[in-house]
Amino acid sequence: MQTTENVSHKEIARFDKLASRWWDPDGESRPLHDLNPVRLDYVSARVPLRGARVADVGCGGGLLSEALARAGADVVGIDLGLKVIEIARLHLHETHLQVDYRKQSSTELAAAEPASFDAVCCMEMIEHVPDPAALVHDLAVMLKPGARLFMSTLNRTPAAFGAAIIGAEYIARLLPRGTHHYAQFLKPSELARLLRHEGLEVEDISGLGYNPLSRKAWLSRFTAINYLLCARKPA
Ligand code: SAH
Repeated sequence: MQTTENVSHKEIARFDKLASRWWDPDGESRPLHDLNPVRLDYVSARVPLRGARVADVGCGGGLLSEALARAGADVVGIDLGLKVIEIARLHLHETHLQVDYRKQSSTELAAAEPASFDAVCCMEMIEHVPDPAALVHDLAVMLKPGARLFMSTLNRTPAAFGAAIIGAEYIARLLPRGTHHYAQFLKPSELARLLRHEGLEVEDISGLGYNPLSRKAWLSRFTAINYLLCARKPA
């Protein structure tokens, strides 16, 4: 049962449509495939993953969930897209990894398992929810004291508008049109404020660089387009 309305069903349907091609490195999830190793390194540099309990919120087809599981974490992956969760589960047959995938909202997981995770990841999702503050609240509730939250999203700058919407959706056609809505992008300062409001300490904000032609991704100080951040719940 869904206990939250912090979801845009239009957004979920948009991702569900892409589900069958999620694991195709040349399909619409191509940027996520290319960013994934950098995201995993960012998380594993800050949390010892072997044996850690990790939640991947808005896990989609499971790119990061599987990478975390391969690194030895005990992963719960949640998403409200039924098809993406099915694809994520099916893919485990290929990799023989274990991930506990659930069609569940962040509010439901936070209520069911408060203070239960050593790390919570929520990548490229907050820009798709109607109420970002409510999502951040749920994520904070899931963290054990001393645990870390990792998020990535798009900044609300002309550069991000140019790269993520004009470039990726209209020119390169990497992503379907309508994937992103500029007004929902969050500046790092705005996201940091939401995190601090939940009592979390922001430890790092890094730019996530990406060249769609070479398919290379890297961490940088340039946060104007895509960025990753780490915040800690005080022990
Ligand atoms: N985190 C994954 C997928 C990003 S795509 C990755 O970075 O590899 C965004 C995902 O968020 C989609 O799978 C979509 O279904 C999910 N999503 C969007 N709004 C959501 C919501 N309110 N609750 C749960 N999942 C949501």
